[in-house]
Amino acid sequence: MKISDILQKDEVSLSCELFPPKSGSQLENVREVVKEMARLKPSYMSITYGAAGGTSEYTVDIADEIQNVNRIPALAHLTCVSSTRKKVHSVIEQLKEANIENILALRGDIPSRADFPVPGQYRYAYELIEDIKRSGDFCIGGACYPEGHPEAGSVGEDLAYLKEKVDAGCDFLTTQMFFDNGIYYNFMYRLLKKNISVPVVPGIMPVTNSIQMKKIISLSGTMLPMRFRAIVERFADEPAAMRQAGIAYATEQIIDLVANGVSHVHIYTMNKPDVAGAIFANLSEIYQHR
Ligand code: FAD
Repeated sequence: MKISDILQKDEVSLSCELFPPKSGSQLENVREVVKEMARLKPSYMSITYGAAGGTSEYTVDIADEIQNVNRIPALAHLTCVSSTRKKVHSVIEQLKEANIENILALRGDIPSRADFPVPGQYRYAYELIEDIKRSGDFCIGGACYPEGHPEAGSVGEDLAYLKEKVDAGCDFLTTQMFFDNGIYYNFMYRLLKKNISVPVVPGIMPVTNSIQMKKIISLSGTMLPMRFRAIVERFADEPAAMRQAGIAYATEQIIDLVANGVSHVHIYTMNKPDVAGAIFANLSEIYQHR
């Protein structure tokens, strides 16, 4: 099923994000995570592609597992700047063979190689989107940054490039995480003014431990509201309390989004079916995709 069809529906839907194993020895563990996550019946599950723009040999395997074994629509991420066009095209062909219809097309982080960018290879996500579009009947998603992409000179400049990216063939967008819903609502106004009208799925990250917190702080540009900082300060050294508070904070963000007319929320579940399960349980009367 195409994600654009899921997003057209008015009913509340929730999706989950997973990451692939780094080595083959962890493949079975991640397959088990997929199975547990699938029991929650998310409307789709996404699987990231490598880290920091790198490639991943297991993204297609896990997308296949999500969709063809667990019968949940899969969204396979695909990054391009650390790859060649040849490699990217081979991954697209593998996805086609596995009947994966949805791809989140990403640039990835700029490689530190001195020869970047290589003439004729990828530089921005919109070039990948154009290639995917030419390669088959895929539903294509793109990333967006309500607080501006960290490399962009300004939010306005980032939005101009976002408009070009959507026009290249994006069917929907997924946002970078944010911890204050006001940021998402303001962003939606800006998109309206830019005539960007594809669905924009808010991405919510449940922060359940202090390591995650440090990673988020290192992601420059993500505003942390006082309310959020207070929770982390109070509970960072009490793992069980931090987990509970992080789940409650994410749940509250989702409830506020739904109350303000958002039908679909993507949860950065980070291979933690227990955290995803707790959020789904908190929303059991709101999300009834069972
Ligand atoms: P782009 O859309 O290409 O934008 C990158 C930067 O270039 C922006 O500053 C933009 O303003 C600018 N720009 C765009 N077009 C032009 C142009 N024509 N001329 C000049 N400047 C331009 N990373 C991974 O490695 N694997 C993943 O699976 C992954 N999943 C992600 C999922 C989501 C929902 C999000 C939000 C991010 C994800 N990332 C992932 C991180 C992403 O790869 C990085 O944020 C990357 O730095 C930017 O990718 P992009 O696709 O947004 O790039």
